[in-house]
Amino acid sequence: MIQMREVSKTYDTGVVALDHVNVDIKKGEFVFVVGPSGAGKSTFIKMLFREELPTKGKLLVNGHDVVEMERSEVPYLRRELGVIFQDYRLLPDKTVFENVAFAMQVIEAPRRTMQRSVNSVLDVVGLRDKYRSFPSQLSGGEQQRVAIARAIVNNPSIVIADEPTGNLDPETSWDIMDIFKRINKAGTTIVMATHDRNIVDTMKKRVIAIEDGRIVRDQMRGGYGYEA
Ligand code: ADP
Ligand code: ADP
Repeated sequence: MIQMREVSKTYDTGVVALDHVNVDIKKGEFVFVVGPSGAGKSTFIKMLFREELPTKGKLLVNGHDVVEMERSEVPYLRRELGVIFQDYRLLPDKTVFENVAFAMQVIEAPRRTMQRSVNSVLDVVGLRDKYRSFPSQLSGGEQQRVAIARAIVNNPSIVIADEPTGNLDPETSWDIMDIFKRINKAGTTIVMATHDRNIVDTMKKRVIAIEDGRIVRDQMRGGYGYEA
């Protein structure tokens, strides 16, 4: 499902963000990507949806060759992925319903299908009764739920999240993680960069630790592994 072979990324500035990375992630896995600030986690995550390209190496995501693919193929790749960020990235002048529906309009779903799907993912994240609210009227945790609903509305096979609980208190973070757990149970692969030691240690999922652009640990049922 995700295959990285000798992937390196050097930015224009000369910074080597990733250095000969090899990773295989299978369908249905739940993977945490951990490491100190500046280690290369975001770069790793961004390459999966082709926000950044490897400078060297081979990267396959869902059968798409991310390096060699035509620009016109990129939307097809992204349609199969749901992406979630620390800062939610909702459209401020659209309601909850519209923020989620917007993700579907991009793929031109029929109206009825769209309404049914949006209602159904708002149920999944527990926000059905807030569908008319605007992001500014919601708490951080609620905004992240909307972002998750938007990410899953097109039934992606992989959900990619970069520090999704980074702005949330511990209790709200666990509510959000419960949603990710449920999505994963339904068969969706999850790749999540995080600094949340408590969550990583408690969930005992696969942990890929990156330091200075290199994978220093790749462990099933792993822990966070760094001192505070
Ligand atoms: P992390 O997410 O683990 O904090 P990043 O992937 O953001 O790490 O960054 C890895 C390294 O690449 C850091 O040295 C960072 O400064 C550098 N970097 C990240 N993005 C860019 C960019 N767009 N241009 C130049 N350097 C970058
Ligand atoms: P009405 O004036 O018919 O009550 P609403 O504002 O309740 O209109 O609904 C507008 C549209 O939003 C309807 O087409 C409906 O399918 C949809 N909708 C209704 N309830 C929800 C909900 N909880 N979440 C998302 N969409 C909803």
